[in-house]
Amino acid sequence: MKIETKCIQSGYTPENGEPRVLPIYQSTTWKYGTTEQMGKLFDLEESGYFYTRLANPTNDAVAAKIADLEGGVAAMLTSSGQAACFYAIFNICNAGDHFVCSSSVYGGTFNLFGTTMKKLGIEVTFVDPDSDEATLNAAFRENTKAMFGETIANPALVVLDIEKWANIAHSHGVPLIIDNTFATPINCRPFEWGADIVVHSTTKYMDGHATSVGGCVVDSGNFDWEKSGKFPGLTTPDESYHGITYTEKFGKAAYITKLTAQVMRDLGSIPSPHNAFLLNLGLETLFLRMERHCSNAQAIAEYLSKNDKISWVKYCGLKDDKYYDLAQKYLPNGSCGVISFGVKGGREAAVKFMDGLRLAAIVTHVADARTSVLHPASHTHRQLNDEELVAAGVTPDLIRFSVGIENVDDIIADIQQALDQI
Ligand SMILES: *Cc1c(COP(=O)(O)O)cnc(C)c1O
Repeated sequence: MKIETKCIQSGYTPENGEPRVLPIYQSTTWKYGTTEQMGKLFDLEESGYFYTRLANPTNDAVAAKIADLEGGVAAMLTSSGQAACFYAIFNICNAGDHFVCSSSVYGGTFNLFGTTMKKLGIEVTFVDPDSDEATLNAAFRENTKAMFGETIANPALVVLDIEKWANIAHSHGVPLIIDNTFATPINCRPFEWGADIVVHSTTKYMDGHATSVGGCVVDSGNFDWEKSGKFPGLTTPDESYHGITYTEKFGKAAYITKLTAQVMRDLGSIPSPHNAFLLNLGLETLFLRMERHCSNAQAIAEYLSKNDKISWVKYCGLKDDKYYDLAQKYLPNGSCGVISFGVKGGREAAVKFMDGLRLAAIVTHVADARTSVLHPASHTHRQLNDEELVAAGVTPDLIRFSVGIENVDDIIADIQQALDQI
C-alpha cells in the first residue's frame, strides 16, 4: 500500500460484523477462564491482553499504523513525546553509559538529556549537527550506546544529514535514534536512510488538531544487537522476565519488546485509549494536512522573504536557506509548516507584530491545523536578557510561525495587516 492508503487502512482490519471504526477499549483489564491461561500471558508464552499498562487493543492498533507508516517492525505509544525520547534512550542505556546527541533539539529533550538523565548516571555529549565526520567521531567513547538527532530540529529548523549520522553511529556499533516529529513519515522515513529507531511527539502533526499529548517509539528491526555486543540488556537473560533473552526470543522485535515488556511495565507512561483513538483520527488525514501545511508554509516563506519589514527568514524550502540542499535530499516533497523569521526593529517590533495578529493565535504549541505564533523572547525564553538570548540561538526579534491549513491568502492578509501596524 502507498502511504496515503496506510494512513487510512493500517493497524485495524475489522472482521465480519465488527465495528468499521477502531473501537476505544476503555478497560484496564481482561477476563480469563483459568489461572493457567492467565499464567501463560505473564510468561510471554502466549500473546493476549490482560492489563492496559502492558498492552491495549486501541493503543496497539494505532502503534501498528505508525510502525507501518515509518516502515518499522513494531511501535509503542507513550503518554507524551518526552516519554518517548526518554524511553528510547533508557531502553539501551544504563547508569555509567553515554550517548551522543545533536545540540539542535527540542528544548524539553535538551533538558531531559542534559540534566535529568545525568542524575540517573547517563551522560550525553551534545554536538553541532553540522559537524564534520572527524568531530562527530571524536564525541564517541568506550561506553557510548546511541546517537540521537531530529530530522528537522524544533525550533532551529536544522535539517539533519541522517545518512551520514547513521553511518557514523554504525561504525561505532550503536544505533541512530531519530526524532521525526516535524517531518512525519509523510515527508521523511528515517529508516530508509539507515536510522534504527524513530521517536515522535504525536502531539504535533500526527494528532494535528491540538487535542492530545502523546508520543511513539518505532523499531526498524534492522539493528544487529548481537553483532554489536554492546547491549547485554537485549542479548543476555532478563531476570525480571523469567530469564528471557530478547534477541533470542523476539529477533527483529527485540528492542521494542524489551521497551514494552520491561521499561513500560516498570515506568508506565501509557496513553489513555481515548487519546490513542483521537490520534488515529489525526493520522487518517495526515497526508492531506502535511501537503497543505507545506504548500502554505512555502508560499508564506516566499512572501516574507520579499517583505521589507522582515530582516531574515528561515525555511528549508527557500533556495538560499542553509539547509536547502539537505532538504532536497531528505524532504523532496516538503518539510513542515514551521517557519522562523525576524521583524526589523527587534524585540519591540516583534511584540507589536504579535499583538497585531488576528487569525494567527499566540499559543505554546506548533504543528496543528490552526496557524499559531510564538515569540520565544517573550514566552519560552523570557527569563533571558538579549545577550543570553543570542547565546541560546534565539534572537530577540525571532518569531516562530506555525503555518496552519487555512486558506493561505487569509494567513498572508493577517501577517500583512499586523506588519502594517509596526
Ligand atoms: C514537542 C516535541 C517533543 C516533546 O513532546 P511532548 O509531546 O510535548 O512531550 C519532542 N520532540 C520534538 C521534536 C517536539 O517538537
